[in-house]
Amino acid sequence: MARHTSLRVGGPADYFIVPADRADLERLLALLAETRLPYLVVGGGCNLLVRDGGFRGAVISLEKFDSVRREGDRIVRAGAGADNRKLAGCAGENRLSGLEFLAGIPGRVGGALAMNAGAGGQAITDCLESLVTWRSGEVAVAGKDELEFGYRFLTLAPGEIILEAAFALREETREEIDRRTGELLAHRRGSQLVGYPNAGSFFRNPAGAPAWRLIEQAGLRGVRVGGAQVSEVHANFLVNRGSATAADFLALAARIKGAVRQSAGVELEEEVKIVGEG
Ligand SMILES: Cc1cc2nc3c(=O)[nH]c(=O)nc-3n(C[C@H](O)[C@H](O)[C@H](O)COP(=O)(O)OP(=O)(O)OC[C@H]3O[C@@H](n4cnc5c(N)ncnc54)[C@H](O)[C@@H]3O)c2cc1C
Repeated sequence: MARHTSLRVGGPADYFIVPADRADLERLLALLAETRLPYLVVGGGCNLLVRDGGFRGAVISLEKFDSVRREGDRIVRAGAGADNRKLAGCAGENRLSGLEFLAGIPGRVGGALAMNAGAGGQAITDCLESLVTWRSGEVAVAGKDELEFGYRFLTLAPGEIILEAAFALREETREEIDRRTGELLAHRRGSQLVGYPNAGSFFRNPAGAPAWRLIEQAGLRGVRVGGAQVSEVHANFLVNRGSATAADFLALAARIKGAVRQSAGVELEEEVKIVGEG
């Protein structure tokens, strides 16, 4: 899984499956149900730490579900496997605003929705209109008001898979969309260009103070465990200096949590999803 995650660590999955289309996915899920094989759906792997023992079961990539299209006046519909930048790009080309921030967030639409990804006070659910998922053996469609979501979470049923989503956007000039996108990307380049493989913010920001500040105040900027290091540029980014294992990241995360608990009395929680066997 090191090849399929932005942290570049993680042991092998028993199966890595890329369904061609929805019918193919449905056949696969029927087979997995029959054989009782566990599965994990991944997008870009940009928020995922797979342990060194890998994943026992099937990892499913929806990268072929990558269509993005405009529907009617203000709706853009995207498959779960579409790259976030493709979605932001399609909205911009159609002079529709609301998803500019996604241009700077790596990953795919399904992962961004599952994480309720966001930046600068905006999140992907802000302009979500409806969500199509695979739930309990059938396709389900939910309007935004039927969903439960908040800071970096969207509640899904066990095994539920996001298939596609529709976003309701605002009309805007191309110049203004490009200006906003450019501003957001420039801000990111200034604060987050950490130079090594990473998964963005490793910990959720607790109420009160951003995680990076608590980590910095605990004196941990630049601290290293094996090949995993607290970035010198952004203390909530843990980076792979080239030789890291998942165990290095887990040990570094435990050290950070202990130090922040001691220095600030705050219990940090991982934003990165940790899966697989140790
Ligand atoms: C350099 C960098 C910067 C980042 N900046 C930000 C930022 O500003 N804001 C932010 O919010 N995040 C940020 N991230 C984290 C990451 O990009 C987002 O969380 C992204 O939305 C994850 O998408 P993904 O497709 O890579 O998901 P993955 O990492 O593949 O998966 C994440 C979770 O979603 C689940 N999932 C994926 N697809 C589906 C699906 N179709 N159905 C059901 N569940 C699914 C997975 O099982 C997993 O639990 C950053 C990451 C990096 C590397």
